[in-house]
Amino acid sequence: MFAEVALAVPLKRFFDYKVGDQPVVVGGRVVVPFAGQSKVGIVCRIKTNSDFAENKIKKIESVVDLQPLFSEHLMQLLAWLHHYYLAPPGEVYLNLLPKLLKNGLPAEPKQVSLWQLKENAEPPPARAFKQLALYHFLAKAGPTEQSLLRADGFSASLIRQMADNQYIVQHTRSHIDKKVTYHDSEYPLTEQQLAVIQQVQNHQGFNVYLLDGVTGSGKTEVYIQLMRAHLAAGQQVLVLVPEIGLTPQTLRRFQARFKCQVALIHSALNDSERHNAWLEAASGRARILIGTRSAVLTPMPDLGLIILDEEHDASYKQLDSLRYNARDVAVKRASLTQCPIVLGSATPSLETWVNAKNGKYLYLCLNQRVSKRQPPKPVLLDIKDRNLQAGLAYESIQMIEQHLKQGDQVLVFLNRRGYSPAIICHECGWICECQRCDSHYTYHKSIGQLICHHCGDQQKPPHQCEMCGSSQIVDWGVGTEQLADWLQERFVEYQVARIDRDSTRKKGALDKQLQAIESGEIQLLVGTQMLAKGHHFPNLTLAIVVNLDNALYSADFRAVERMAQLLVQVSGRAGRGVKKGQVVLQTHFPDHPYLQTLLAQGYSAFLDMLMQERQQAGFPPFTQWAALRLESHQKQLTEKKAVWIENLFNEYIQPHYQGLSLFASMPALHEKKAGKYRYLMLFSAERRAVLHAGIKQLQDSLLMNKSMQNVRWLIEIDPVSIQG
Ligand code: ADP
Ligand code: ZN
Ligand code: ZN
Repeated sequence: MFAEVALAVPLKRFFDYKVGDQPVVVGGRVVVPFAGQSKVGIVCRIKTNSDFAENKIKKIESVVDLQPLFSEHLMQLLAWLHHYYLAPPGEVYLNLLPKLLKNGLPAEPKQVSLWQLKENAEPPPARAFKQLALYHFLAKAGPTEQSLLRADGFSASLIRQMADNQYIVQHTRSHIDKKVTYHDSEYPLTEQQLAVIQQVQNHQGFNVYLLDGVTGSGKTEVYIQLMRAHLAAGQQVLVLVPEIGLTPQTLRRFQARFKCQVALIHSALNDSERHNAWLEAASGRARILIGTRSAVLTPMPDLGLIILDEEHDASYKQLDSLRYNARDVAVKRASLTQCPIVLGSATPSLETWVNAKNGKYLYLCLNQRVSKRQPPKPVLLDIKDRNLQAGLAYESIQMIEQHLKQGDQVLVFLNRRGYSPAIICHECGWICECQRCDSHYTYHKSIGQLICHHCGDQQKPPHQCEMCGSSQIVDWGVGTEQLADWLQERFVEYQVARIDRDSTRKKGALDKQLQAIESGEIQLLVGTQMLAKGHHFPNLTLAIVVNLDNALYSADFRAVERMAQLLVQVSGRAGRGVKKGQVVLQTHFPDHPYLQTLLAQGYSAFLDMLMQERQQAGFPPFTQWAALRLESHQKQLTEKKAVWIENLFNEYIQPHYQGLSLFASMPALHEKKAGKYRYLMLFSAERRAVLHAGIKQLQDSLLMNKSMQNVRWLIEIDPVSIQG
């Protein structure tokens, strides 16, 4: 007997080993000798003969798992990933495992301690509102792991304090509790919510649903009701979200409604937390798994429903090593498991929109806010030839003042962090550029540094111009830091907060700021797209969008789609309470057809317009794309290889795959990054099978060619970015 084993090595193939006395299982781990080392691998197939000479085949050293780590469905899903993304087996079968499992640790969760209310503990006094919040939370959610509480926004010090005050105690989980208790919501469902739930429950088995619901329409409640039915039927539910850190409130809502074991998988976990969460889901103990992108591949023996929230969000796409799209993988997983999957968004991606239009996905719509107050329609403010102060037009500043005076909150949205996006010489126009990239430095005044946002390089700002020696170095353009400083100076009597990746780097910082917004301590927010998602600020009545013009003329055809999503999401932040909201978009191009369609006819009409354009241009999703990305430290070498590959493709590949073509071959957007020169080749075909076969052939040819070893290259299926 032979076992075909996947190993965490860059090679594109599986390796055969002889099965010894210990039986092996498909989907389980084994330890095998490889290049003088012992390595952990996953058994992918058991067979009676091998293509290799028997005396060349080594023996399996030991068997780690007596039971499969991956179920049959999951093995099918992983095999699909391996083929679909043309990825080495190691990246699929091993690199996506939690590290401790990849290293061969037993598949048993470490002892987990849970926090729970002490028996007969009275609630803390009302003035200790944070403690009270945790008290009520635990009363609803039941025993909960510390890492989960942290993700819910409860700090470690608060937990300690509660323990010291004898409100909560820790205990170690000893039994498996699959029970799920459901807490009813305090309000009845709206008619639209009911209708949508009914539509899903009328079907059985695999179906993909697009839940297109405006911000504030109560999508989360729909998820909860759908989950409820599946949990009650003894099934597990997988909930995928873009970023857990950004929206602790959402997480809390799920846990407050279901008292059961919940596992959480996201990037901020440490190795043993990840190990535990994975095994809790894989063993079936956790009935709900909430996670980001990588959680899509966690085994769940009783999986009965997948929810994927904010399906348009770019963070579902992994941009390094295995470049998969968790949304597409989730849909595939649902089809293999024969279970429903709900893709929710207020701004569906064009791909999903097209699938809904052509009937592949079932379309569900919540077009009314629960509050019946529709999200405000953005109005355009023409800033051509206007004086701007910190990027703001006079009217914008007036409106901010007016709303603040009324006691409301205001959001000023600017998608550019730092103080200014460049610093230049006032005399000769020299721009201070990163040596390692072809982009300029961003000035971060608060730390007195220039930072390259492409490679992360940091420098002290220069005192002199490198071209002309002048000492008149000035900042150029406006970032969130400058905008917030300026607003604070202009509106001294109000509290301004800046929310971007810089201001929230410290653990817990974002949550603190969000709480200060909720409590009304902060009235004026300056934020990047971190603030566009999911948050519910009932007193926010005005959103000013400083500038999205870049997207209108971007080299990347997806930029306008993202722009529209951002604008709609930002608009969704305003007017969520009793008061009406207002949204202003400052632009130099008020007559641009994209903006006109979006504002006059709405997001759906905008998508229809994009859809036509993409169809005419032969862009995805109407054609299928694969990218070949090349990079090396020498510009010439990268280019030479690109030409060589182009010739190889034209001469040997393309003639055999009708319909496959080289759509573009060009230096990547921002060609130079961190000292490397990057090149991008885009291949397209109408039929996916043709694309795959041809690109696989190309990949095989490149793998066999020794000269390709001088450059780094990779193939990406369904690329979303024309950067490197
Ligand atoms: P979405 O995810 O679509 O933006 P949410 O699910 O966050 O919307 O709901 C918006 C707000 O409306 C939340 O505060 C939620 O608690 C509330 N809500 C949801 N459904 C109802 C309902 N049927 N009746 C009253 N309030 C509701
Ligand atoms: Zn100069
Ligand atoms: Zn750089």
